[in-house]
Amino acid sequence: MVAAGVCHSDLSLSDGTLPQTWPAVLGHEGAGTVEAVGPGVTGVVPGQQVILNWAPACRVCWFCEQGEPHLCERALDGTLSPYAALTDGTPVYPGLNTGAFAEATVVPVSALVPLPEGVDPAVAAVLGCAVLTGWGAVNNAAKVRPGQSALVLGMGGVGLSLLQAARIAGADP
Ligand SMILES: [Zn+2]
Ligand SMILES: [Zn+2]
Repeated sequence: MVAAGVCHSDLSLSDGTLPQTWPAVLGHEGAGTVEAVGPGVTGVVPGQQVILNWAPACRVCWFCEQGEPHLCERALDGTLSPYAALTDGTPVYPGLNTGAFAEATVVPVSALVPLPEGVDPAVAAVLGCAVLTGWGAVNNAAKVRPGQSALVLGMGGVGLSLLQAARIAGADP
C-alpha cells in the first residue's frame, strides 16, 4: 500500500455503528503497487499501480445479473473471512474487504482497479470511496441538473468530491 484515505465508515466500523469482526485492519480507500499474484490471476501483474475496490461485484448474484453490480448482495462476503493471522494464530479480518491501513494487504483480483501510469497514488486512493460517494450523491441521489443550486456541508474527501461533481453537473450557484 502506498496511500490510504480515512473515511467516516472507518470510524463507524471501529465504534460498532457498522458491523465488523475483530481483530481487523481497517482502511478501504487505498492505492498501491501489486507485489505478487496468485495462480490463475489475470488482468494485473506485479509492479502495476492499482486502487482498491471495497465492494467488488460477484457478477453472478441476482442484482449482478440484472446489470446492477453496485447492488451486489455478495460484495461484502470477503469481510467475513480472515485474510491473515496474528503471530499467535488469531485470525485477522479485512475491514470492508481491503485492510488498506496496513503496509500490505491480500485481496481478490476483482477488488483491484488498474491505474494509468503517472497518477499520484495519494490522489488516486480516494477514488476508492470518497470520490464515488460524492459523485453518486450528486448524480444518483440528488440528480442535480444544470442551473440548479446546490449546498455542500463539510469539505472532507466526500464533500470536496461532491463539490466537484456538482460543478461538473452544472450546479449554479
Ligand atoms: Zn469509505
Ligand atoms: Zn453480485
